[in-house]
Amino acid sequence: MSLSRSGARVSELKRRALEALDALAPEARDLALRIHANPEVGFQERQAVEWVSAALRRHGYDVEAGVAGLPTAITAAARGGSPGPTVGLIAEYDALPGLGHACGHNLMAAGMMAAAAAVKTVLPELPGGITYYGTPAEEGGGGKILMLERGAFAGLDVALAYHAGDHMSYATGCLAVQRIDFMFSGRPAHAAGAPWKGVNALDAVILTFNGVSALRQQIRPDARIHGIVTDGGQAVNIIPERAAMALGVRSLDNTYVRELVGRVEACARGAAEATGTTLEISRDLFHDGIKFNPALAEIVKENARALGFELTPRVSGASTDLGNLTQAVPTVEYTLPTCPPGVGMHTREALEAGAAEIGLTGMLNDARVMVMTAIDLLASPELVERVRRDFQAGNFSGTSLA
Ligand SMILES: [Zn+2]
Repeated sequence: MSLSRSGARVSELKRRALEALDALAPEARDLALRIHANPEVGFQERQAVEWVSAALRRHGYDVEAGVAGLPTAITAAARGGSPGPTVGLIAEYDALPGLGHACGHNLMAAGMMAAAAAVKTVLPELPGGITYYGTPAEEGGGGKILMLERGAFAGLDVALAYHAGDHMSYATGCLAVQRIDFMFSGRPAHAAGAPWKGVNALDAVILTFNGVSALRQQIRPDARIHGIVTDGGQAVNIIPERAAMALGVRSLDNTYVRELVGRVEACARGAAEATGTTLEISRDLFHDGIKFNPALAEIVKENARALGFELTPRVSGASTDLGNLTQAVPTVEYTLPTCPPGVGMHTREALEAGAAEIGLTGMLNDARVMVMTAIDLLASPELVERVRRDFQAGNFSGTSLA
C-alpha cells in the first residue's frame, strides 16, 4: 500500500470513529454528570467503577475488576483484527475529600470511556488493541503506583492520558514528590509544676520547621518544601509527650527530591537530638516526575491542530501518580480547556466547570484527540517505533517551572 493510500485509510478510520464518538456524546455527558453528582474519594470509587464498567461492557470490552488487589481498579480490553501494540487509555475517577469533583476526574472517566467505545467501532480493521485503565485514588493514594508495582501495566506499549484544566497544553514535566511523616515522642510533665521533668516533643516539631526554613534558602528554584503540624500536643498544662508533622518535598528532578529528603530528615534527627525526643519517620509512596516523550506529544499536537487547537508545552507545578507510569511506559498527558481561563484545579470554580457545558465540551474535545491518536498508533507501526526510540533515548523533561 502506498503512503498516500495508507494515509487516506487512516483518515477514513478516524472519520468513522469520530462519527461514532459524536453518537456517544449524550452517554458520555450523562456518565460525567452522574459521577460528578456522586463524588467518591480515593479507593472508594465503587459507584463510578460500576457505571464505567457497565458502559465499557456494553461497548464490547472485557472488563476485569479488582485489578492488582485494588477493589476499585479496573482494566477493560478489546483486541483488533491482528496482533499489534496495545494502547492504554489512563482514566481516573476519585474525588477530593470535602470538595467533590474539583479536579475533573469525572471528565476523564467518562470521556475516555467514550473514546474507547468509539475506537472499538473500527478496531476489527486495525492490529493491536485498546485497554482502558480505571486507576483509583490519584489524589494522594498513588493508585497507579500500586498498579504499576503489581504488574497491572505489563504488556502496555503506549499510554494516553488527558487532564482537565484551563489551558491547551501537553505536559513536559511535573514535580516529583515525597511526603514524609515525623512523629516525636518525649515525656509528659506538669507544664507549670515541674516542667524540668518533661521532654518536650512539640519543641522538636518547631525546631524541625526552623531547620527546614533555613535549608529552604539553599535549595534549587524548582524545589518546594511545605508542611503542616498534625499533632501539636495534648493539653496546654502538659509538656507535650507526643507531637507530629508532615512535609511534602518536591522538585522536577526525582534524584534531587531524594537528596532533599535526606537533608529534611537530618533536620528532624537534629531536632530530636537537641530535645532528647525519639523520632519515627515514615515515607509515603514516592511520586515520580513526568518523563516526556516528544514523538508521542507530536502525534497528539497534530491531531489537536486538525481540530483547531494549538497545544503548547507546559511544566506542571503539581504532582501525579501518572509520573511513575511515564517512567515505565511511553506516556503523553495533554489538556484542552475544560474550565474558564484562570481557574485552577481543586477550587470551587473547577468543581462547577466539571458539570457545566465548558467541562463537557472540553471532555469531548479531549476524547476526539484521544481517538485520533489511538488510531494513528495502531495503524502505523513506525509511529510506535519512534515513540519507543524516544523513550529509550532518555528524559526530555522540562527543567524550569512555568
Ligand atoms: Zn487533583
